Amino acid sequence: MAYQTTTVPTDVLSGFVADIFTAAGCEPAEGARIAHHLLSANLTGHDSHGVIRTPRYILWLREGKVKAGQTISVVHETPTQAILDGNYGFGQTIGPLAVDFGIAKARQAGMAAIGLRNSGHIGRIGDWAERAAEAGLISIHFVNVQAGELVAPFGGVDRRFSTNPICIGVPTDKGPIILDFATSLVAEGKVLVASNGGKPVPPGSLIGPSGELSADPRMLYGTIENTHVRDSARGEGALRTFGEHKGSGLAFMCELLAGCLTGGGTSGPIPGGKRGRIANGMLSIYLAPGSFGTSGFSDSVLDYARYVKASRPAETGGEVLIPGEPESRTRQERLKHGIPLQVETWAAICDTAHALGLSPPAIPAPNA
Ligand code: NAD
Repeated sequence: MAYQTTTVPTDVLSGFVADIFTAAGCEPAEGARIAHHLLSANLTGHDSHGVIRTPRYILWLREGKVKAGQTISVVHETPTQAILDGNYGFGQTIGPLAVDFGIAKARQAGMAAIGLRNSGHIGRIGDWAERAAEAGLISIHFVNVQAGELVAPFGGVDRRFSTNPICIGVPTDKGPIILDFATSLVAEGKVLVASNGGKPVPPGSLIGPSGELSADPRMLYGTIENTHVRDSARGEGALRTFGEHKGSGLAFMCELLAGCLTGGGTSGPIPGGKRGRIANGMLSIYLAPGSFGTSGFSDSVLDYARYVKASRPAETGGEVLIPGEPESRTRQERLKHGIPLQVETWAAICDTAHALGLSPPAIPAPNA
């Protein structure tokens, strides 16, 4: 399917999105922080977690499902552990606070395990691993979405998991290596992008109520009327996990670690069958490489990464990439040339701005 995009300079997009959140009731610093992290997802090529989320976040703010101006509460604490409550604040505010809490503990003790519950959507998890890596720490993150079931388990058709990302970040002297992916075949936001006329999701990413495999976003959102805010409660189908039983097993473990252990709860069952507030849970483990008694960690990692990349390409002209490489390349490219958005995505953000009394900035005409 052909679709039109428009390329928006990063500073224009960032300022516009920040203004939208500020007009909706956030302090300017929070508005700017939300915009920064949404753009970070777009810059790394994960448009599913970028500014496309703006209309939905504003709706949630209006409905009281996410709150402006929140901070973390410490529910339980030991020298190496904590359970933090995000109080349904914006994930872009709660995420950095939770990560910084873990960094401080791991710097003291060499390692820390921090459970976060009741956080607003924390978006691209790679941002949090990058933050830990900037502080010199390895980090491992297991994430779920309370009351956010969208994904069928291996062998089933009914939704039982959320898209449950797993992320591992390793610092090196040449920048971090970040593995960061959803355990569903595609992140929900990629179905959202496809539903807006963007890149279609791969065949078989979704499964229907009778077990039929599909790539049709309507499996998730039901009839896609002329509404800009998609509602995943309306579809009868589900996303599928990647890697058959293996991805399904990882998704299951995310529920146990990010949902049961943090006390935030699993993605289902949804109380009363009705979706209320959707919030992320995350178990994060932070490790200080210097405290393990081994030396030359960074050199050893970089030597090995070079060795892996030197594997002969499977296809002529192909290339072996290591985790995080596609994102850092896309970031360089988009910082220079701007962020391509589907015209439908841009229109939805503009509708949200108009409703808040803001005029959208002028942007370049769409590319064919
Ligand atoms: P994806 O399928 O694009 O996989 C991304 C990972 O694979 C990255 O680590 C990337 O470096 C690596 N990768 C990609 N191409 C590669 C290649 N050719 N060779 C080697 N490595 C390669 O990601 P996704 O599953 O669509 O997830 C997208 C984003 O959505 C992630 O940032 C994730 O954190 C986020 N997410 C968030 C939530 C939430 O609830 N907050 C839920 C689901 C997903």
